[in-house]
Amino acid sequence: ATMPPLLAAMATAGRHGVLIKSAVVMERLAQTGQVAFDKTGTLTEGSPQVAVIRVVPGGLLDDSDQVLAMAAAAEQPSEHPLAAATLAAARDRELTVPASADFTSLPGRGVTARVEGREVAVGSPAHLLSDGHQIARRLTEELEDDGHTAVVVLVDGDPVGVLGIADRIRPAAAETSARIAALTGRAPVLLTGDNARAAVRIASQVGVHDIRAGLLPEAKVAAVHELQADGTHLLVVGDGINDAPALAAAHIGIAMGRVGSDLAIEAADAVVVRDDLTTIPAVIELSRRARRYVI
Ligand code: ADP
Ligand code: MG
Repeated sequence: ATMPPLLAAMATAGRHGVLIKSAVVMERLAQTGQVAFDKTGTLTEGSPQVAVIRVVPGGLLDDSDQVLAMAAAAEQPSEHPLAAATLAAARDRELTVPASADFTSLPGRGVTARVEGREVAVGSPAHLLSDGHQIARRLTEELEDDGHTAVVVLVDGDPVGVLGIADRIRPAAAETSARIAALTGRAPVLLTGDNARAAVRIASQVGVHDIRAGLLPEAKVAAVHELQADGTHLLVVGDGINDAPALAAAHIGIAMGRVGSDLAIEAADAVVVRDDLTTIPAVIELSRRARRYVI
């Protein structure tokens, strides 16, 4: 028996490592007019490493091991790639990570928890540092200028240190971006919760010039609506909880499955299970080919 073209295309996509949730999605992929990528875990490998630890002089903690152990304690329950990096670094240094309680997670911002009777916050400098925190701000900017994602650690509201976290760009990112630009006639866009300095550094290496940085989950949704306002069918690719609303708001949302959070996978219309970015232009091409056979 011959399979209908869209179902055959879905089966082919599955063999290439992309699970497409319905035939409607398979068909819609052909309409893609522009692609928007998330940064961490999507354009980058999502296996970031703690590269630098800076201690805030005069702060509550005196050395980098103490800063790292506090951060790791608070991050334990988090599924964010930056949390995994922090815990791996603590393990590498063979640190004793204290227990934590009352964990809360704010997507796009960071985490908080109680550790040894103190309130620990770990996350984005933009959301955790205020004007008074000048030393921590300076440390943060130095790390970001080097292309790191800076994560600040606060104990009872006072900055104690900054982690500089580095993530490798996926080897296929530049090629993928160029293929997508050729297919859609427009260069892809970057939507990231990370800081603008790190975003520019990564985007410029993959041929992406439209960079929207420092976006909270709701701001990613607003950016999707703006990019779709002229009728463009936007395909959003992301991996995190923070991407879930944008994946749902876009004409098509695709989640990166390996590092992807369950919420992103649920919100998406398709899931890349083989962890290969080149599957994105491949499924757009597949959809266009399948539609040629549908009248
Ligand atoms: P992206 O959009 O690039 O994937 P996210 O929106 O997930 O990034 O995160 C944006 C920023 O929020 C991070 O760069 C970091 O500063 C902060 N952040 C979010 N979650 C965490 C976490 N669990 N630990 C530390 N920082 C976090
Ligand atoms: Mg991400």
